[in-house]
Amino acid sequence: MVEQVDLVVVGGGPGGYTAALRAAELGIKTMLVDDQPKPGGVCLHMGCIPSKALLHAAEVLNTAKEAHRFGIKFDSPDIDIEALRSWKTDVLTKLAQGVSGLLKSAKVDHLVGRAKFNDSRSLTVDREGESNVRVKFKHAILATGSRPTRLPFLFKNEADMDSPLIMDSTDALKLEEVPKKLLVIGGGYIGLEMSTVYAALGSEVTVVEMMDNLLPGVDRDLVRPLATKLEGQLKSILLNTKVKSLEVKKNSVVAHLEGKDSPAKLEVDKVLIAVGRVPNSEDLGLEETEVVIDEHGFVKIDDQQKTDDKRIYAIGDVSGQPMLAHRAIRQAYVAAEVLAGRPSQFDNRAIPAVVFTEPEVAWCGLTDTEAKEKGIKTASAKFPWSASGRAMTLAEPVGQTKIIYDPASQRVLGVGMVGPRAGDLIAEGVLAIEMGAVLEDLAESIHAHPTLAETINEAALTALSRIERQSQKSSSPSAAKTH
Ligand code: FAD
Repeated sequence: MVEQVDLVVVGGGPGGYTAALRAAELGIKTMLVDDQPKPGGVCLHMGCIPSKALLHAAEVLNTAKEAHRFGIKFDSPDIDIEALRSWKTDVLTKLAQGVSGLLKSAKVDHLVGRAKFNDSRSLTVDREGESNVRVKFKHAILATGSRPTRLPFLFKNEADMDSPLIMDSTDALKLEEVPKKLLVIGGGYIGLEMSTVYAALGSEVTVVEMMDNLLPGVDRDLVRPLATKLEGQLKSILLNTKVKSLEVKKNSVVAHLEGKDSPAKLEVDKVLIAVGRVPNSEDLGLEETEVVIDEHGFVKIDDQQKTDDKRIYAIGDVSGQPMLAHRAIRQAYVAAEVLAGRPSQFDNRAIPAVVFTEPEVAWCGLTDTEAKEKGIKTASAKFPWSASGRAMTLAEPVGQTKIIYDPASQRVLGVGMVGPRAGDLIAEGVLAIEMGAVLEDLAESIHAHPTLAETINEAALTALSRIERQSQKSSSPSAAKTH
């Protein structure tokens, strides 16, 4: 069978389905090919959405547990794992049905099967139990996403890697059972989100992180309140610790560890490996095209999502860091619009990142860590949530809001937050950076009271009053004398 389309999008995740919908909206005859039966990709079925559904359940459990602080006591919860699992599946099913409906009404052909490029003008879709389809296209958008990194060298016998006692994030989100003892390898955002879920459901969770801090690369002042909270929720957090090997036994796994303050051995019921993700750029026939792949496996793109092959564009996880759904979605708009002849460009200054733990950690734009690395001169102002009326009424006064700005122009360069719902609040920081806002813009916009958003307003006011004090000092007669 041969099909002819203007555009074929390979991969039905948030990048792929958004690109297909936008292209169809702009009048391009589009086909979407995805190897999964339901559209939505990793994000909808094995990532963002199931993890957030389970984190909501964890938040309910933790809130109920801590409600005694304001006089409300609950009995120990009765957790029906099967019901929790089916609620989560229900959420995913409804969202996937929504995506299918959108594709249908936009008249995007949705083909289920695995695509492989024959050359820069055609690909073949291998469909299970059905005949292959050859698709001839004018343009293609690659949106094949990523998969969890595997660590085969940890196992004496490589087959043990596929033991049900060894999980990756996809397995962990299936929530087949709640192990009594769980070892999580990796203190990045996926490891910490899943640790929060399993600890709330009753597992004794140990997190092992090779670096000297959780969430490596994230500003330490933002991580600290989370680390303190996690210390209370988890059995232990082993930093500066390497897992040397994993020994899979009949009903347990023995982890051999190396670290100054870590035990040499740890026996657990299950292990979750969450050490990052790799792009899906192999087995796609890309060698038959002009597409270039970098040393990390990412497809090389320019700021219009074009690859080195003039007919092929790439978006989402397969096209580089940060591997986040909202980056994929923005890139999808850019690719579809460029293909429709519009002057679109991925010129965003701020890509927010959110860790949906308790408390949440969120940041966008320039971070202190990055400014230090690049030698960029910045100043920052913080507002502690212990002084926020709204945080107090939520019985969660743990957190802070930080604004990083250019001391010369007072332009907002970065915003970082830690605290409940920081992930929602960071949107104001993104808008401020994209609009080129200065401190005054954030300080003089009225923020509703009492809300957590006021902490952004307060941090900007803190910065401005410090600048005012400094300028008064430097213009005072005594300051003039000393200089
Ligand atoms: P994907 O969503 O990976 O979709 C790619 C699709 O292409 C898949 O369906 C794949 O099967 C298909 N495919 C691959 N090869 C082929 C082929 N040859 N032929 C046909 N189809 C193919 N991001 C956030 O922004 N926020 C979060 O809260 C968040 N939480 C996460 C939690 C977890 C546990 C994980 C694992 C990830 C999370 N992410 C989150 C990351 C997010 O899921 C990804 O950034 C996002 O899914 C990338 O979208 P994509 O369109 O590039 O590809």
